[in-house]
Amino acid sequence: MGRGIRQVKEDFECENCGLIVTGNGFTNHCPECLCSKHVDNTPGDRAMLEECGCLMEPIGITTTRGGTAIVHKCINCGVESTNRTSPDDDIEQVQRIAHKSSRRGSRNSVIM
Ligand SMILES: [Zn+2]
Ligand SMILES: [Zn+2]
Repeated sequence: MGRGIRQVKEDFECENCGLIVTGNGFTNHCPECLCSKHVDNTPGDRAMLEECGCLMEPIGITTTRGGTAIVHKCINCGVESTNRTSPDDDIEQVQRIAHKSSRRGSRNSVIM
């Protein structure tokens, strides 16, 4: 007991398509449908009060300093967050979301 803290690499089951996503410390979203789960993983900013744990839908694609990121929105509480795309992500799905969001014309979710 008490032998130091292991890095959390949590597996989770995608609540949208049922895929078991193996946590690798980087990806926190489903590579198939790009849905995520609302957990508090963004240090700084306004800290979330508690973990919500609900499904987060990909609502858009944005570009960050590090590259392409997916904008996720929680279906429960409406919180938005950006998560970097991973090499495992389905690129067609990424493009589909990018297309969908650009067609909608919403530009108010760009986070620097
Ligand atoms: Zn999925
Ligand atoms: Zn939430």
